[in-house]
Amino acid sequence: MFIFPVNVRYACIQCGKSCQHWRVWVDPEEAAGKSWQLDQDGPRLRLMQDDQGRCLELSPQNLCKIHPDKPSVCRQFPFLLAQSPDGVHVGVSFRCTAVFQAQGVEWTDHVPLLEDLLARGVPRIGFEPAPIGHYRLDWETYKDWEAHWLSRLPHDLCDAVASTLGVALGLHPQSLERLVLLLSASAVGFLESEDNYGAAEVAAAVRAEKEYLSTRRGWTAPIRNAFEGEMSEPAIRYLSHVIERKTVWLGSSFLGRLLMLLTAQRMLFYYTRLEGFALAVDRLEGEWLLHRQGLDDLETTFEETLLQLV
Ligand code: SF4
Repeated sequence: MFIFPVNVRYACIQCGKSCQHWRVWVDPEEAAGKSWQLDQDGPRLRLMQDDQGRCLELSPQNLCKIHPDKPSVCRQFPFLLAQSPDGVHVGVSFRCTAVFQAQGVEWTDHVPLLEDLLARGVPRIGFEPAPIGHYRLDWETYKDWEAHWLSRLPHDLCDAVASTLGVALGLHPQSLERLVLLLSASAVGFLESEDNYGAAEVAAAVRAEKEYLSTRRGWTAPIRNAFEGEMSEPAIRYLSHVIERKTVWLGSSFLGRLLMLLTAQRMLFYYTRLEGFALAVDRLEGEWLLHRQGLDDLETTFEETLLQLV
């Protein structure tokens, strides 16, 4: 059974965005015998791109030249499927222009494609009771938590999460708030630097509200009250879906992912002020919550830091 999202729509408008500036890694077994234009990148294979990062299989009209036979990773985008005891939750990436703009068709129209994805074994995130300290979070309790978070979303998620986590950890809301601000600065450091040393420097500058140079993007950015802001309607819609698509179950650490969600709300304020809402969402989707590489260690560190607080 599919469980469809609310207030979210999708139907591809062939803008070509998802076929540019991504490294599309391809499974060698799946690529065997195919006519795909591939690059060997270290030990891995990926679809070949031109100098501007555009997939060579994309036509000038933004149509995929290998559409009937394209790699499963392309076929899956922008869907994210999360398996729970209630069914398969259908999520989508807001990096997709159509999703971002809420352009779409009825969800039931997507069922044949979704069934095809499941038949092809597209990865689904399974549910297992999550360890939270000595407490194990079951699915029914989680659903109560999620409903509470969603109802509180126009405000600060930290308070809502602290009141639910309080059951399991006895966590004080102010402790969580302070931790999330600290981790949000670390998150900006991670996104704006090439190495750990640079990340620590940027994080310190963000906390001190001092100017820093983003070595990855080349701008300098001092911002006062960097992580404060009002939740706009588009921001509520976006973060609601981030929760609804079961983001906190997507990684190896439930608590680590929960902290990523809380930092995402702060970073949404931060990057919206710096670059505007659309780029802020792109940044979070592409580099923090989804389609990401190398964040698993950070997730574990986040969890360990939180557990030290209790
Ligand atoms: S970003 Fe979305 S709308 Fe644009 S081509 Fe990709 S799937 Fe289609």
